[in-house]
Amino acid sequence: MAKFPGSALRSRRKIDISPVVVIGLGRFGSSLARELMRYGVQVLGIDADDKLVRDHAADLTDTAVADATDVEALRQLGVDEVERVVLAIGSHLEASILTASNLVELGIRDIWAKADSDPHARILTQIGVHHVVRPEHDTGRRIAHLLGGRFQDFAELDENYGVIKLAPPSVLLFGTLDVQRIWEKYHVYLVSVRTGTGRWEPLSSGYPLSSTDLIVVAGSPEDLEVFSCA
Ligand code: ATP
Repeated sequence: MAKFPGSALRSRRKIDISPVVVIGLGRFGSSLARELMRYGVQVLGIDADDKLVRDHAADLTDTAVADATDVEALRQLGVDEVERVVLAIGSHLEASILTASNLVELGIRDIWAKADSDPHARILTQIGVHHVVRPEHDTGRRIAHLLGGRFQDFAELDENYGVIKLAPPSVLLFGTLDVQRIWEKYHVYLVSVRTGTGRWEPLSSGYPLSSTDLIVVAGSPEDLEVFSCA
């Protein structure tokens, strides 16, 4: 297994970042790795399971079977030469923590790790992981807001702040659209509209919305829920 070519030429790239190492090719790690590849980022995928590694070998720039709790194995693969590593081991708590500690020891500048619980997230942060993500937790919260059927999509951007995609509520379909008045009354901000041509454009006061348009609105989840019924 050759060292990962950290500085090799990259193909036409759409996400403009240097090669990424993804450790753990389960559902989360493999879908993240494939999405990076789709956007032109070189990916080295590492997993302890050789069958999983074989399954993903054709999709990724490079793959390796290795135990990521072994810091020397990571060094030999050139993991210490990359800027960014995603640690996608979730349910194997001990493996996740030991690997995170190895990545910190290797001096990786940008470590992203998946956590399966609050204590797991806390420990990863204490070890020195720079970004801890909670996919199940985040998806659960997101789906809760979609169940009502009024939001077509919901993304939480910060604690108590997010954006929704929805058909314009009735309050926007009568009279002249006034973005400032909506902000004052509902504490949500009208961001953009998908026009008849299918393109997204900024939504400004006076725009003649129709019930077949889609809009994106920003605010707290509570305010967005109230606004969606207005
Ligand atoms: P998913 O992303 O499928 O939800 P998960 O959260 O259940 O995954 P785990 O089962 O903990 O995650 O592990 C994900 C992957 O990490 C698995 O494919 C597993 O083989 C791999 N893995 C676990 N321990 C190690 C290790 N020490 N070194 C390398 N890979 C490992």
